[in-house]
Amino acid sequence: MNKADKVIAKTYTRFPIVITKGNGCSLWDTQGKKYMDFVSGIAVCNLGHAHPKVSEALSKQADVLLHVSNLYYTEPQIELAYRLTQNSFADRVFFCNSGAEANEAAIKLARKYFNDKGEKERYRIVTMEKSFHGRTMATLSATGQEKIRKGFEPVLEGFDYIPFNDIDALRKSIGPSTCAVLLEPIQGEGGVRCPDPDYLKAVRRLCDETDVLLIFDEIQTGMGRTGKFFAYEHFGIEPDIMTLAKALANGLPIGAMLASEEVAEAFGPGAHASTFGGTPIITAASVQVVKVLLEENLIHHCATMGAYFKERLSELKAKHESIVDVRGMGLLLGMKLKIDGGTIVNSCMEKGFLINCIQGNVLRFIPPLIVEKEEIDALVACLDEILG
Ligand SMILES: *Cc1c(COP(=O)(O)O)cnc(C)c1O
Repeated sequence: MNKADKVIAKTYTRFPIVITKGNGCSLWDTQGKKYMDFVSGIAVCNLGHAHPKVSEALSKQADVLLHVSNLYYTEPQIELAYRLTQNSFADRVFFCNSGAEANEAAIKLARKYFNDKGEKERYRIVTMEKSFHGRTMATLSATGQEKIRKGFEPVLEGFDYIPFNDIDALRKSIGPSTCAVLLEPIQGEGGVRCPDPDYLKAVRRLCDETDVLLIFDEIQTGMGRTGKFFAYEHFGIEPDIMTLAKALANGLPIGAMLASEEVAEAFGPGAHASTFGGTPIITAASVQVVKVLLEENLIHHCATMGAYFKERLSELKAKHESIVDVRGMGLLLGMKLKIDGGTIVNSCMEKGFLINCIQGNVLRFIPPLIVEKEEIDALVACLDEILG
């Protein structure tokens, strides 16, 4: 760790453990200490660590072909795009390597779509306060959090931030230069903030009335995390564009931007590109992720465990004054505290549980979707002791 602190960029405040291996919901450090993982590499390892089907797909693919570029077709990429479009609103997929890149692609596509229609003045995108869309220049510009843009000005022009869950604010913010509304169906980094009932339906209606594109950032909420394959399925609506990353390959770097045929049309040859996007080694793993999620009842398990977990956290709330709110869907759960969350995270780690704190006072629980009741009970007992 001393060595690390000399050679690794200081962009993260790290916890003082070195993790060497994982299995299912468990992780081990160099001291041999075991942890129950309620972070999943930030909502990434949805199938748990060292999933045998992912490992097998990776080693098989590694033996035959890692990469050839997008100048050629490769089978795993076709297979993945097919499965994603078959199981979503979308008709086409653009592959890249991270969440930020997927959102970059979405922002470019929304602008290009209206540009192609001869409506060049329509380039502005409405986004939400407390949103998180990434750390590249365009995506930090889209992000409705001052602290993330600070120091990097001038940010990219053309983003209008409004409060989440405020349909009147949205109505007022959409003007003749608006091309899209970009939002997370449930705000992740912003504090696990859920939409009010019918809010997203109203957003969709407003976008339809004003001919504005609706972009869902499902980088955190997608891939079964909320108890549906994609979070939008809870709300009886569909976006025009959706971005994915995090859990898409259970820990390997991948991003994807999905769009309806009409919108995807605006990305012709040369409009956008990524050298590594959809490379065979990673898409081979991702195909297995999609298969396991959809064919092994895992999403239903996530919904059941999520409901149980939320119930148990609500019991804690009834017991401990320091808990303000319990919220979230599926296994994307948050618990807002009156006190600093950082010390709770540290105490949990000492007791062998990894959890995460966002916005200073919201504990976020995002375990692998394979988590079982016993593991949830163990964490709840640990939290009960610490808070008491
Ligand atoms: C993590 C995240 C991103 C950024 O993804 P990176 O892969 O870190 O670039 C964007 N949007 C949401 C909702 C996220 O949770």
